[in-house]
Amino acid sequence: MARIRSIKPDFFRHEALQDLEIANPGMYPMMVFAGLWVIADREGRFEWRPRRIKLDVLPFLAFDMEQTMSLLEAEGLVQRYEHLGETYGAITSWDRHQIVGRDEPPSEIPAPSGEKTPYFRPLNQTQRFKVYERDGWTCAYCGRDMKNDRRAACLDHVIPYAQGGTNRELNLVTSCKRCNSAKANKTPLEAGMKWPAGLGEYLDRNTNTVCHHPVNNTLTGGAEVLDKEREGVKGIGKGNGVNPPPEKTAAFNARAELIARGVSETVADDFLKVRKAKRAALTLTAIDGLDAESGRAGIPLDDALRECCSRGWQGFKADWIKKGDGNGKNGSSRADRISATIAELTGANRHPAAAIDGVATRVD
Ligand SMILES: [Zn+2]
Repeated sequence: MARIRSIKPDFFRHEALQDLEIANPGMYPMMVFAGLWVIADREGRFEWRPRRIKLDVLPFLAFDMEQTMSLLEAEGLVQRYEHLGETYGAITSWDRHQIVGRDEPPSEIPAPSGEKTPYFRPLNQTQRFKVYERDGWTCAYCGRDMKNDRRAACLDHVIPYAQGGTNRELNLVTSCKRCNSAKANKTPLEAGMKWPAGLGEYLDRNTNTVCHHPVNNTLTGGAEVLDKEREGVKGIGKGNGVNPPPEKTAAFNARAELIARGVSETVADDFLKVRKAKRAALTLTAIDGLDAESGRAGIPLDDALRECCSRGWQGFKADWIKKGDGNGKNGSSRADRISATIAELTGANRHPAAAIDGVATRVD
């Protein structure tokens, strides 16, 4: 996928590039080099596939892309390397010249050193559990104790993915879902939250090494801010309330909250539409209520909301299912319970006694 990149005036003054252009007429090394910057991912890496690259870079000019790329390689402008049988390329001066937006996804291409980008190793359940246990099931940001409500716990990347944060224990902390969605794609400092003591690990793109916070000062842009971070680190757990609690300031994200509670994205979106159409804001209290009702009814929140969406309901009560039980029309499977609920709400079984028996029964 091609991206918008910036080209510095230096590019047009680059002596070696112009010499290359003069020495190789019709091979367009300057334009191809610029084209590679647009193709490269946030680490300046790309798959070394000349034929495919040709489709994106100067497709209407007749020249051999493979040859031109080799020219750039010989000049040291790009590095060709292999990893597990795949050939990749890296722009050698990338880090000196390019500042990448923080929302751009992390690189999926291994570094020339062969090291797999560590934040791509997903955690298994045991590893996740280990972090929760280490933190005593307590939210690092608001201090909420979730020992008895483990569903409320999730893992937060102290330094976010998008800023190079790793997916390892040293960059993960237990958080309640509320703080996690309030913090979003920010470091604790940027989000105005407490920095969890001793945590924060990221991949430094300049050296391609994994670093531990606060060695790096590029994340925050200066020594002054870094000092504040250090204070923040010292202040953790000492009641040093330098930063305001997030709950009061952060906007509540209902969608994120639903997803955090196991609702699929499609259902969350649909349900929010239903609520919006009925002008019913989806507050945390409302979500808590729905979660409790679905728990009482013994079905996952996702199922309950899916049913709400297909019925156009803005809410859901466990009692609706219990009434179904009383009519004896309810089996033990989830599908049975749901259809009993539907029958109850649509009035299909409102008069279970009124079977056709030849006797007229007054129905109000
Ligand atoms: Zn919290």
